[in-house]
Amino acid sequence: MTDRAVEIAANLAEVRARIEAACAKAGRDPAGVRLLGVSKTFPAEDAIALADLGVLDLAENREQDAGAKAARVAELRPDLPIRWHMVGQLQRNKARAVVRWAAEVQSVDSGRLAAALARAVGNAAAVGECEGPLDVLLQASIDGDPARGGCPLEDLPALAEDVAGTRDLRLRGIMAVAPRGVEPAAAFARLASAAERLRAEYPQATELSCGMSNDLEEAIDYGSTCVRVGTALLGGRGLASP
Ligand SMILES: *Cc1c(COP(=O)(O)O)cnc(C)c1O
Repeated sequence: MTDRAVEIAANLAEVRARIEAACAKAGRDPAGVRLLGVSKTFPAEDAIALADLGVLDLAENREQDAGAKAARVAELRPDLPIRWHMVGQLQRNKARAVVRWAAEVQSVDSGRLAAALARAVGNAAAVGECEGPLDVLLQASIDGDPARGGCPLEDLPALAEDVAGTRDLRLRGIMAVAPRGVEPAAAFARLASAAERLRAEYPQATELSCGMSNDLEEAIDYGSTCVRVGTALLGGRGLASP
């Protein structure tokens, strides 16, 4: 192993221990919490190090960087069953590109984006570029601030209907980032009840993707099924990066 891989392995052990401790405290089975390794801004080699350590769910937030990175990882680790997740804001004109590498898009926050993705999946499947349907999560905005992306909680039912109405998308649940300046526990409590309402209507929408490096314990306490961790695995991204 390279020095970098050793460092990442140590970070991973720490993150797994945090997840296990949070699950124990919440009386939950750690198998019910997926760990997404967020490799944004880091090179393909770091994504490979994570995958070699068993983190086969990887996430990116910019389509422009992710396509090439995913292709590079696939070239170097053709046998690893890696699933890439898009977790960042996505413009509709990138829908075609994103379905070539993403197994799941967690950042669907408008009906227009859902329609663009559905169309892209249909077209890509027709030429064998993807297997379709695409797993999607609705990105919720817990505080309703539109600047940071996400669909206001009260608009989620309409968005869910848009997604569930297309054959090429599979509604899997909700994703959110805790807003700044709000106690994560309070934010996740609101999110958890929105997720519960969604699940009552769409039983297949079982995923609740919340919790990052700084708040994964609170997220697990409120039922997160998927924590998205970048910094705690790979280190800081510096001030200039997203
Ligand atoms: C960057 C990012 C993460 C990971 O954040 P860390 O604090 O580095 O763990 C998770 N989710 C989304 C949507 C992100 O953009």
